[in-house]
Amino acid sequence: MRMAGVPLAEGDAATEREFPMPVRTFKKGVHPHDHKERTASSAVEDTPVPALLRIPVSQHLGKPALPVKGRGDEVVPGELICDADGFVSARVHSPVYGKVKRIVQQPLPAGRMSDYIEIEVNVEETQAHEWQRRDVDLDALDRKAVVDGIRDAGVVGMGGATFPTHVKFSPPPTAEIDTLVINGVECEPYLTCDHRLMLERTTELVEAIRILHRGFSFKRILFGIESNKPDAIEAVSTAAAGVSDTPIEIVPLKVKYPQGAEKMLIYAANGRTVPAGKLPLEIGVVVANVFTLVAIEDWFFWGKPLVDRVITVSGDGIKEARNLRAPIGTPFSDLVDGCGGIVGDVTKVIAGGPMMGVALPTLDYSVTKGSSGLLFLTNAEVVDESPCIRCGRCVDVCPMNLMPLKLAAYARAGKFLEARALHLNDCFECGSCAYACPARIKLVAWIRYAKNYVRVHKL
Ligand code: SF4
Ligand code: SF4
Repeated sequence: MRMAGVPLAEGDAATEREFPMPVRTFKKGVHPHDHKERTASSAVEDTPVPALLRIPVSQHLGKPALPVKGRGDEVVPGELICDADGFVSARVHSPVYGKVKRIVQQPLPAGRMSDYIEIEVNVEETQAHEWQRRDVDLDALDRKAVVDGIRDAGVVGMGGATFPTHVKFSPPPTAEIDTLVINGVECEPYLTCDHRLMLERTTELVEAIRILHRGFSFKRILFGIESNKPDAIEAVSTAAAGVSDTPIEIVPLKVKYPQGAEKMLIYAANGRTVPAGKLPLEIGVVVANVFTLVAIEDWFFWGKPLVDRVITVSGDGIKEARNLRAPIGTPFSDLVDGCGGIVGDVTKVIAGGPMMGVALPTLDYSVTKGSSGLLFLTNAEVVDESPCIRCGRCVDVCPMNLMPLKLAAYARAGKFLEARALHLNDCFECGSCAYACPARIKLVAWIRYAKNYVRVHKL
């Protein structure tokens, strides 16, 4: 292991005084209060096994998976319950022993409808289940075996994007991946599940990187971690130093939002820029989130597909903030019970982080592969909107150099072609503009609305 020795990225790369080595970053961005203090030191705890799971068939970008189990079918942990429908899709497996109760249509947190497979859980049998470690000959793994394994396990990007991971690792013949960038940033306020994984499952992270390296023989492996997680930097550095066959470079990054966004992370880590409308693959880079790595290790060494995940439950409106490992399909109401219930005047519940997450109208949703957080915000944390004062702050902070105020104004006026001409689709909805806006205008909501309109109407 060595600390990355390439020159600092151009722009506002900076050295933070309290950190003993240079940290790198991207241009623009914001500095929200991180609100991580309630859970940063909280070890991951398992939720009690739920009596009922509601598992959506659509938990990833791409086509929804196709159910292969129906009402009355018995299931066991790790059994396939939905197969991928095509290349850009992902398998879904049962986390438990139980019986399929029914398949129902319900909305996902983002509003889209999905089929959900409801499983009545055999709690006792599931509690007694243990995954068995299996021997893996890493030297026998080639690229196909690595990518097939990732696909079979139903692994998707766990940082929130939920893009099927086997697709990310399947470059077209014209592209070659030479760099793996690990995303250990977790720049969204409140969320600490990735931080805990870097501390508690460090060995597994490094094992997963070794698996990927067998398939791709990367020229460089860069592990980006924000400098406000010195314990994670130390843990990963120590674990990486213990392997001689996989050179991992630790890249301390400046604490800034959205440092964990793919394009910003790649730029900060190795100075490469992903052109507008292109994928990192096209410049030879693949980014993998730390939880994605844990899921890969789980499959190769334990035969465990992606059937559970760690989620941070936090905010002033929850009694005991926690990092909980929950089976996919666990009702959010079970997580609330596991955290001692709701306290105070909760005015906003968010699935994900406060910057890119989705406000929920009810708690009638369940944990999916992309569920990184469940936040309960109180009056003190929610502010009403007022008219634009044309201060330009939203423009100053946009890491994609867009004009959020104009995009939102065009969306509001129904001028979608004008919005598209201002590179509407380059917005990746990071929320920096809305955060910086003193008028608290719902810039991202308007931009998202315009993007959806342009996509649906093929403008
Ligand atoms: S316009 Fe989009 S990319 Fe730019 S700051 Fe706003 S949400 Fe982020
Ligand atoms: S930051 Fe808000 S108030 Fe300032 S120009 Fe942008 S939209 Fe208007």
